Formats: sequence, C-alpha cells, structure tokens
Amino acid sequence: MQTNNGQWRLIARPQGRAKESDFEWREAPTPAIRDGEILVRIIYLSLDPTNRGWMGMDTYMPAVPLGAVMRGITLGVVEESKNRDFAPGDIVQGLGGWQEYYAGDASGWTKAPRIPGLPLTAYFGAMGHIGYTAYFGLMDVARPKPGETLVVTAAAGAVGSLAGQMGKIAGCRVVGIAGSDEKCAWITQELGFDSAVNYKKQDVREALKSACPDGIDIDFENVGGPILEAILDRLNLYGRVALCGLISQYNAEAPPTGPANFINILIKRARVQGFLVLDYASRFGEAASAIVPWLKEGKLKYRIDMVEGLRAAPAALNRLFDGANIGKLLVRVSDEPA
Ligand code: NDP
Repeated sequence: MQTNNGQWRLIARPQGRAKESDFEWREAPTPAIRDGEILVRIIYLSLDPTNRGWMGMDTYMPAVPLGAVMRGITLGVVEESKNRDFAPGDIVQGLGGWQEYYAGDASGWTKAPRIPGLPLTAYFGAMGHIGYTAYFGLMDVARPKPGETLVVTAAAGAVGSLAGQMGKIAGCRVVGIAGSDEKCAWITQELGFDSAVNYKKQDVREALKSACPDGIDIDFENVGGPILEAILDRLNLYGRVALCGLISQYNAEAPPTGPANFINILIKRARVQGFLVLDYASRFGEAASAIVPWLKEGKLKYRIDMVEGLRAAPAALNRLFDGANIGKLLVRVSDEPA
C-alpha cells in the first residue's frame, strides 16, 4: 500500500530561534514496508523544547542529520504491519517524526491502548514522556515530604503543571512561576497551586519572599537563568533541585552566565540532580498506575494546546519559547480512527 507522505526535513542548524527556513517540506510516496516493519499513520505530533536541542548538536541523543525527517514523538495508528507484535488498527507511540506516515523499523514503538474514560491525548497531556517526567522528577529525584515547600518553574507548561499538582498530592505547599496572569490564575484557581508568581510582571526574588515564607525545600526546575538564581537564594538546608530542563538557554547564542550564586548548593548542603525521563523507561508502568487513577479521580488535570496540521509545526515550535502555550503543545496531523 503506497500513500503520499508529507514531511518536514531539517535542512539547516538554527542560529538562535528555529526558523521555518531551517526546514523543507517534501512529499513522497511511503516506501513499501519490509519484514519486521510497520506503517503508521501519525495522528498527533508532540512539540517539545528538546526538539530545539535535537536540531543543533549531539546531546543525550545524536543531532538530527541535515536532510533527514525532523525527529518527533508521535502517536498514530498502524495501517500495515509485517511485524508480529503489531496489527493494523493498533494505536502506537514512538519517534515517528514530523511526517504524516512513518514506515520502518518497529523497535522503540509501544502500544498505547485506549484507556476507558480518557482521550488519546492523555498520552501526551498526563502520561507518556510528559507525565512520567513530572512523576519521576518529583517522586524519585526530589522525594517530597508533606509540609515541604515546592517551587515549580514553567509551571503552566506541560510538565510543570503536572509536577505542581503531584506536589499537592504529596502534601507540599506548591508555588508556581509562570509568564502571564492567565497562567497564574489557571494553576492556582483550577490546579490547586497555593500561590503563583508572574515572573514577567513581578520581581521574582521579592515575590518568593512572601510566597515561600519558610524558604524552599524543593525546586522542580524547568527554566534556569535568573529565575533559578532567585530560587537558590531562598533554598533551605538539605533542599533538592530536580533539574528537569533549562529552557531559557535552548535558543541562546552565547554561553549562559548564571546562576552566580551556585555556591548556595554547598552552603545549604542541597542536592541538585539532573534526570532524563528515558532513564525511567523500565518503570513507566509504575507511573501510569499512579497517574490514571489520579486523572479519573480529578486529582490531576491537564490541558492540551492543539495546533492544526503538520504544515504549522515549524512555526508552532516557537510557541514554547515565547510562552504562548498553556499546557501540552500538540499538533493534530490527522484524525483519530472512529
Ligand atoms: P512547556 O509546556 O513547559 O513549554 C515551555 C514553557 O517554558 C513556555 O510555555 C514558557 O512559559 C516557558 N519558557 C520558555 N522560555 C522561557 C524563558 N526564557 N524563561 C522562563 N520561562 C520560559 O514545555 P515542557 O513541559 O515540554 O518542558 C518543560 C521543561 O521540561 C523544558 O525545560 C524541557 O526541556 C524539560 N523536559 C525535560 C525532560 C527530561 O527528561 N528531563 C522531559 C521533558 C521535558 P512561561 O509563559 O511561563 O514563560
């Protein structure tokens, strides 16, 4: 079965922000699949801050080669299979890339069966790489205790909004830092954060003094830079920094200068630990068994920020760096099967 396949290929390493001219749109028939391979129609493409890193250089994964289809985390439906583990109609998740169809090796693809009562987008909004990052970053790396103060940066984003709610479930006092009044209202009024700081309007150092009168025990860090510096100033003895991401640096053209007060890690005997959700792959089931009941009980909420059509992907990626998204940024590439 051959189908026309629209694809975004990476043709240039971006300088600073990614531009649409760093990509090229191509259409070609899908190749015939061979033994062991699958043909997947992509339904949703996840746009993630780490996409910018993949475009630039080797990090925890090799950089996307120039001329190749842009790498992306996707969910789709198997249309044809020559792999005994997958059958037509299976809903699957994997690195399908910025294209309408994936045809190739089935390794790395997993089934994403429909969960009664939850839409398929929950695999990006509250589970999958987003939910599991929040879950293991908080529960395993930061290890919250009831009564502790947790600060979450990029708190109205996909990972941050979940990490903050999980902090509430763990009994913490939770303070979120986000970039608009609308985002601050969402996390406090709808998600149950105790307090929020709009870093674009408020002096973060001053705001944290009143929002965290007893200091900060845990920082779930997504941003870095001056915001991290302000948090380190209020870190408590034996505090923990779960270093999830540093989005403020991903488009930087010069090396970052801060935080200047990193010595506070020493003075406060704090623990900073970087973590990658990939390292927890063998325990994803544990996270799902906690998250699904929380979703069904209404203890955990998520929001999808949907962009229509694969053609919009390059421009939409920058919404993450402009703070234009609330919740999980996704691209609808095609319709869900009935
Ligand atoms: P989000 O949905 O949180 O989107 C990014 C948000 O970051 C924006 O909405 C914006 O919100 C904020 N932001 C962007 N630029 C800046 C800046 N310069 N200063 C302050 N805030 C900024 O994305 P994700 O939830 O997908 O990712 C959040 C973080 O988690 C990222 O750093 C990402 O790399 C990391 N991550 C790490 C993983 C791991 O395994 N360690 C796995 C997945 C994600 P605002 O309006 O508030 O500025």
